[in-house]
Amino acid sequence: MKVAVLRFQGDVYEHLKYFAAAGAETFSVKNARELENADALVLPGGESTTISKFLFEEGFDEAIKKMIEEGKGIFATCAGLILLANEVFGNQVKSLSLLNISVLRNAYGRQKDSFEAGISLKFDSEREFTGVFIRAPKITRVGHEVEVLGELDNEPVLVRQGKILAATFHPELTEDLRIAKYFLSEVCGG
Ligand code: GLN
Repeated sequence: MKVAVLRFQGDVYEHLKYFAAAGAETFSVKNARELENADALVLPGGESTTISKFLFEEGFDEAIKKMIEEGKGIFATCAGLILLANEVFGNQVKSLSLLNISVLRNAYGRQKDSFEAGISLKFDSEREFTGVFIRAPKITRVGHEVEVLGELDNEPVLVRQGKILAATFHPELTEDLRIAKYFLSEVCGG
């Protein structure tokens, strides 16, 4: 499985490492044409306003839609999730509207800008996943076609819609490969 990581801004290296550790062949892309060789794409965390401009200027919006039509997987972390959402509150961001959720940016307040918390995963409830939240958004609405796969305090933090898997937290900053493995085998392979 060849997994491309969008290389513009944000924690690119950590995603390359995370998916490689889970068994994928990983490479970074800065050009939409380079996606032709990819089976999946990762939109990393970072600053969604900055990444948004780049996405649209470089034609990644069309390339990502094409990938989904072709049945390829998209994994998104934090800012990446904001960029896929149908509706964004807080500071407005131009998003791709491919994931039927509403999000509120920087929703956890200043004192809790960054924190770690145990997440219950629907596909492996035996052990919690340590969620690293960094100026994270909150998912405030989930469309009926969206499946909630991870929750924090009964609120959705990991969601799936078809070939898209998106987290408000940063799995790539842990050594727990369960989310990468789920993405590779169930979302991309399934
Ligand atoms: N706060 C950032 C935003 O709204 C997201 C932060 C992150 O990706 N860790 O774009």
